[in-house]
Amino acid sequence: MEKADRAGGVWRDNTYPGCACDIPAPLYSYSFAQNPLWSRRFPPQSEILDYLDRCLAGFGLADRVRYRTEVHAADWDEAGSVWRLVTATGERIEADVLVPAMGQLSRSATPDIPGAQDFGGTALHTAHWRPDTEVRGKRIAVIGTGASAIQLVPSIVDDAAQVTVFQRSPAWTLPRPIAGTAACAAPRTVECLCSCDFRAPAPRCCRT
Ligand SMILES: Cc1cc2nc3c(=O)[nH]c(=O)nc-3n(C[C@H](O)[C@H](O)[C@H](O)COP(=O)(O)OP(=O)(O)OC[C@H]3O[C@@H](n4cnc5c(N)ncnc54)[C@H](O)[C@@H]3O)c2cc1C
Repeated sequence: MEKADRAGGVWRDNTYPGCACDIPAPLYSYSFAQNPLWSRRFPPQSEILDYLDRCLAGFGLADRVRYRTEVHAADWDEAGSVWRLVTATGERIEADVLVPAMGQLSRSATPDIPGAQDFGGTALHTAHWRPDTEVRGKRIAVIGTGASAIQLVPSIVDDAAQVTVFQRSPAWTLPRPIAGTAACAAPRTVECLCSCDFRAPAPRCCRT
């Protein structure tokens, strides 16, 4: 059951400039569905979403998902030995096994900053980036220096008139080698399946 109208989780919802994987992509892939087509070591959001879509199709999961179905409650019925779920529309569903996979970042938290409601400009959370958000020539304030800000700021800094970053607690970061393809970083011991057919009986290796 998925509350949204398509799969992808955070990679569906986060579309801010620079959104990308921040660990090497071969490690951010299913071990049984390595992807030789990653364009770079830290591929962008669109590639990860595409990878997830292909996994969904390749493993025959597409028609096993019920979209627009938000689970509001899940209670274990001891007497009946069954999970009883209630969806947002009030539908009741029984299940023998419950696998909660709601993610830990599927609900963004916008800080309650005094006076924020009086701000006259555009204000948005990176998780709700709108494609028509104009950064060119704007004075932009970014609050936070976490994983999203580290990707967003370098992506907008050349277009914006000014970028000010507000940092409460400094974070440790390591240099990120942007160049280099992910396929080259795939451990040789990992079975490397072709992305066009993850379930090919005789998988071709990405390193020929
Ligand atoms: C911008 C961004 C970049 C990230 N980059 C990395 C990275 O590089 N490396 C890394 O290891 N991690 C990264 N993460 C962490 C990321 O959350 C996890 O790696 C991973 O995507 C989580 O997957 P998931 O399936 O557990 O949850 P999600 O991707 O959050 O998926 C949960 C799904 O459950 C649905 N859902 C939630 N509640 C309900 C409900 N009640 N009923 C029905 N459906 C519901 C949501 O709509 C969503 O589609 C990143 C996170 C973000 C936001």
